[in-house]
Parts: sequence; structure tokens; C-alpha cells
Amino acid sequence: MGESTLIDGKAIAAQLRAEVAVRVAKLKADHGLVPGLAVVLLGEDAASQVYVRNKAKQTLEAGMASFDHRLDAETSEATLLGLIEKLNADAGVHGILVQLPLPGQIDTARVLNAIDPAKDVDGFHPMNVGRLAAGEDALSPCTPRGCIILAKHVRGDLTGLEAVVIGRSNIVGKPLAQLLLRENATVTVAHSKTRDLPGVARRADLLFAAVGRPQLVTGDWIKPGATVIDVGINRIDTAEGKTKLVGDVDFASAQGIAGAITPVPGGVGPMTIACLLANTLDAACAINGVETPEI
Ligand code: NAD
Repeated sequence: MGESTLIDGKAIAAQLRAEVAVRVAKLKADHGLVPGLAVVLLGEDAASQVYVRNKAKQTLEAGMASFDHRLDAETSEATLLGLIEKLNADAGVHGILVQLPLPGQIDTARVLNAIDPAKDVDGFHPMNVGRLAAGEDALSPCTPRGCIILAKHVRGDLTGLEAVVIGRSNIVGKPLAQLLLRENATVTVAHSKTRDLPGVARRADLLFAAVGRPQLVTGDWIKPGATVIDVGINRIDTAEGKTKLVGDVDFASAQGIAGAITPVPGGVGPMTIACLLANTLDAACAINGVETPEI
């Protein structure tokens, strides 16, 4: 077999952001409507700060309004719930994202459940989780939405393909499985209790790894020609005493066996914010009863 095709998430995300920007400009011209995204961050976690800064930058670049709310790590749950109530009522805000994880004094479920489902651009509110499972229109979680776009970029129609998702988190694995069902794939969700994980993985035409275990999936787990989407972001120490980012897939051994594979970084990662922008646009249109503009 030759080299695996590299799935360029960076380029595909840039294309999606450019399309969102065109639609936002149309929405502004036709309806005088500017989608607004509010991001709430508690505490000083360095990785979250970078992520939030990128979100704000890309939101503005897409022509949308960005509202940053930075609160200190000791903020009470009541104060946070008060802010969410204000954002729910704010007509200029169409998307609300609370950066996770939240500090220990705060009940994450209570906070996520307080977000107006119409503004829940992370797709974590039980109403949107339920709608997604019921096959109704819903705001769906950004990372899984990005995974589907990448898979379709390589395979086109996913109907009838064997999809294996490793990981069953509420943020990635479970919603990804729901989205794959909607695409008519045959879906298996594997997890830490799965027997013969390599054997299950080898069944996949589409293999998604969302585990958080560096380089868990090796080449011998991959059916030759399969499309491999690596969601994992893991920091490991190198022999030179530095750190580097790796995925849940051992890229070197997967190379040449997978038909196509996402790199880490530069695969799924950039898709997440692009899909967040797309969700914010969709939310702004739905809240105002207008169709998302065509391009
Ligand atoms: P999580 O810890 O909530 O869930 C991990 C899942 O993997 C669990 O369902 C568990 O059952 C399963 N698992 C754990 N060990 C396993 C093993 N040895 N074999 C099989 N299954 C096992 O993690 P998450 O939030 O879903 O994130 C998973 C990875 O994806 C992490 O590396 C995270 O950093 C990354 N991630 C990336 C993005 C992005 O690209 N933007 C977004 C979210 C998460």
C-alpha cells in the first residue's frame, strides 16, 4: 500500500470559516442581523485562555460579535447562573459557551442546564442531546460535527459504512455516534470495557479515536484503507526533554495502512471552532426565524 492521504483539517476548517463569513455578511445585509457569541471562562487555566482567545479572534473574523466574560476561579455558582440568565435574555447574544472544566464549587450539569437550549452552541443541554438522539433538528456538539465533515470530505456519502467510535464521553463519543447514525452508518461505540478492542477497531471503514490515551491505536488495529479520524490531544515528553502533542492514534504505524488519516495537531482540532461559528450562525437564524443564508 502507498502512503495514507493526510486529511488537512486546517484547510477544511479555514474553508468552513470562510463560508460562515459569507453567510454572516448576507444575514447582515438582508436582515440587519449580526450573530453574537458569548464565551464564559472561569479561572486562569493557560490552555483554556488560549482556546478562548482563538474563539474570540475567529468569531470577529467571521463578522460576528464576540462577548468575553472572564470570571475568577472562586466565582460562586449563583453568580455564574446570574450571568447565564442575563445572556439568555440578551437579544444580541445567540450563542453561549461556558468553557469546561469548571472549578469544583460549581455543579457543571446545573450550569449547562441553565443555558437557553436555543443558544446552546455546544449542544450539551439535555434538550439538544435528546433532540439529536430523536433525529430532530438540534444544535450538535462542535467536535463531533467537525469529525463528520472530515469523514464526508474523504468518503462522501457515509451510508452503510462500518463506523467504530472509541470513547463514549458526552462531549465526543456519544454525540458522534448519534451523528453517524443520522448519516446512515452502521455504528459501534467501543470504550474502556470493550472486549478485544483491536478486533472491534479492525472492523471499521471509519475509525474515530476519542479516548485521551496517547498513541493507543496502532497500525495493526486498522483495516487497510480505513479512514481514521483522531480526536485525541495528548501532551507527551520527548527523548529530548521537550513536550509534543500526539493523538490517540500512533501515527507512524497507522501511516500506509489507513487510506486517509488526520494529523495531530492540524486535524480535528481546527474543526471545533469552525463548527462553533457555524452553530452560532445557525442559532442566530433559528432564534430570529430566518433561513440560514445560501451561498
Ligand atoms: P473522556 O475522558 O471524557 O472520555 C474518554 C473515553 O474513552 C471514555 O468514554 C472511556 O470509556 C474511553 N476510554 C478510556 N480509556 C480507554 C481505553 N484504554 N480503551 C478504550 N476506551 C477507553 O475524554 P473526551 O472528552 O471524550 O476526550 C477524548 C480525547 O479527545 C482527549 O484527548 C481530548 O483532549 C480530545 N478532545 C479533542 C477535542 C478537539 O479536537 N477539539 C475536543 C474534545 C476532546
